[in-house]
Amino acid sequence: MQNQLRTGICNFDNSATGSCQLGRWELSGAVLYRFAYRRYQLPFRQPVRTAHGVWADREGLLLRLENEAGVVSFGEVSPIAWFGTETVDEAEEVCKGLGEHVKDEVLASVPEHCGCLRFAVASALSGEHGPKIEGAKALQVAALLPAGRAALNAVEPKAEAGFRIFKWKVGVADIADELAMIDDLIARLPAGAKLRLDANGAWDRRKAERWLAHCAERPVEFVEQPIAADAKGAEDLLLGLANDYPTPIGLDESVVREGDVVRWLERGWPGVFVIKSALLGDAAATIARLDKAKACVVFSSALETAVGAKAALRMAFAFGGEPRALGFGVWPLFQDERFDGPYQAPFIRAQDVLAINEEAVWNALS
Ligand code: MG
Repeated sequence: MQNQLRTGICNFDNSATGSCQLGRWELSGAVLYRFAYRRYQLPFRQPVRTAHGVWADREGLLLRLENEAGVVSFGEVSPIAWFGTETVDEAEEVCKGLGEHVKDEVLASVPEHCGCLRFAVASALSGEHGPKIEGAKALQVAALLPAGRAALNAVEPKAEAGFRIFKWKVGVADIADELAMIDDLIARLPAGAKLRLDANGAWDRRKAERWLAHCAERPVEFVEQPIAADAKGAEDLLLGLANDYPTPIGLDESVVREGDVVRWLERGWPGVFVIKSALLGDAAATIARLDKAKACVVFSSALETAVGAKAALRMAFAFGGEPRALGFGVWPLFQDERFDGPYQAPFIRAQDVLAINEEAVWNALS
């Protein structure tokens, strides 16, 4: 398998000095952990095409914490370049600086802009004390279709497997071609099925209006991020589009930075919040806010490995409201299947999430 590994200087397994003997940890009364991280570069089975181009390999970090009692927990840093969080290199630099032992207040030394690393550390610290979920609960999953014409042939097998929500990346090809293609795609959908479109911010106002007018009479569940989050006047434009067209709009790239969700809730956003927990520094607090506001939430994959997916899916299962179909219909995703979460099925059960073996994923990087 082609995964590449760079092991950090504070890799627990390489600590040959003996300086992290259990007896030397009892320094200050704070909980101490051995900290280690491993960097990965994992080729996707199929390169992922979005409005930002072709994405061939997933790079990120896995973190491992071990407390004095020998209890081990994991976290994952999986940034997506165009979402504007830290890069993998930046996260790795911070990890190097943390050293071989960390205290339970380690989060205070992770910079605010490193949202992915903050999420990884927080999920590792919470370990099995994370959100409680009920094993028998099952949530619907949306199937991810490839971009462009390749989507047409992908619908039938997924429909036969039972999927009824299909996500298709748009803004990848010429607008006229894609508008024609969507009707071919809709013709292949099973009865009652819906399409979820994701433009990844590719359109300007004129294109977004053309698309939303086209979607109005069609089975489109919602259109995700029609306008780039950092476009001039993006927030007013998105609110205007949401009020002018019947198809709901989803915010994804627009709700990653600190304070984004609070601001959109205050502005009374009438559409969907797409939540990639892996990119949100303080995902637990953000999700609690959305829960309280009874917001319409779609929990979505950041194309992370099973380690980050487990933490993100636990949050989805703990969500009080009824979330829309999960954006986790992505597996098998990696050439090396040891990094995948549970394979695509139209429903995922909480017990499948709890059964994800993070240690096996960590060990696959050795
Ligand atoms: Mg998206």
